[in-house]
Amino acid sequence: MKAIVVKDFGAPEVMNLEEIETPEPNEDQVLVRVKAAGVNPVDTYIRTGTYAQKPDLPYTPGKDAAGIIEKTGGNVTKLAVGDRVLTADAGSGTYAEFCVCEEKHLIKLPGNVSFEQGAGVFVPYATAYRALFQKAKVQAGETVLIHGASGGVGTAAIQWAKNADLTVIGTAGSEEGKRLVKEQGADFVFDHSRENYLNEILEATNGKGVEIIVEMLANVNLVKDFDVLAKFGRIVVVGNRGSLEFNPRLTMGKDASIHGLALFNAPPDEMREIHEAIFDGLSKGFLNPIVGKRFALADAVKAHHEVIESKALGKIVLEI
Ligand code: NAP
Repeated sequence: MKAIVVKDFGAPEVMNLEEIETPEPNEDQVLVRVKAAGVNPVDTYIRTGTYAQKPDLPYTPGKDAAGIIEKTGGNVTKLAVGDRVLTADAGSGTYAEFCVCEEKHLIKLPGNVSFEQGAGVFVPYATAYRALFQKAKVQAGETVLIHGASGGVGTAAIQWAKNADLTVIGTAGSEEGKRLVKEQGADFVFDHSRENYLNEILEATNGKGVEIIVEMLANVNLVKDFDVLAKFGRIVVVGNRGSLEFNPRLTMGKDASIHGLALFNAPPDEMREIHEAIFDGLSKGFLNPIVGKRFALADAVKAHHEVIESKALGKIVLEI
């Protein structure tokens, strides 16, 4: 099969399209014919070799994919050859024509959702769900600031939050991004590259502030977040790309809590809840994955540059 192969950690250019052996599913796995693969920022961190998850070399990148079951292992009972699925935790890299995945790490892809959309589901939607419902424990009627709402996790968070009857304030750094955030149902949209946008957010809440912040760039925003956080507010740190100086007193005055989140830490019962919620949301249509940019598998290098260097606009997917 054709697959992207990384033989040395480093810049995007370490990724090459090669012919490698198709993986063989074990008794608990299925073989998925990948139709599209999702490109997540975490794929780029892993590729550098400096991230918490460090695969043995050579490896094929990619966590998210959607496709059709080609073959099943002997212990597989709920899924069959020909089923449309999306991967929640693939057992081999998804930037490839085929990947293997345990049955328990697959979610059926409802007929109303395309393979490209399905490829952009798991990491963003699971992360956004975990941030809102399992960490911040949001309640209907509360106001959430999705600080970085134009990307994969952000658009997913808007859709979950609107379905849960929250008031949503979203931010983006471009006009296209702001338009996308508004189209997803955000009640208010602000530009996080503008100087006084935090004042505008505070005004939108009549000076009260927001109960919840889902934070995509904590090293830039964590201190400023306290300017717009309501008393007893909760901040969930989803994204972070550096360090900052922080005075813990900020949390005291507002009785605020800060929750860290890494999707791969979700315990099995919470993961099961996430799988069920995603299938339900996709089937009912209140989750509607936004594919922003498409690349061919051979252009994975360009896709990795794009996901880190350009303004976000929904998900980036590789068409296979
Ligand atoms: P993405 O699609 O590339 O989107 C990045 C988002 O961050 C965009 O909305 C972008 O807005 C926004 N952003 C840029 N500058 C910002 C600023 N100064 N303040 C607020 N937001 C800003 O990435 P993603 O897939 O949504 O992931 C978002 C972050 O969460 C990444 O850092 C990713 O690694 C992390 N993540 C963590 C977990 C976890 O388990 N903790 C899981 C998934 C993702 P513009 O481009 O419009 O400026």
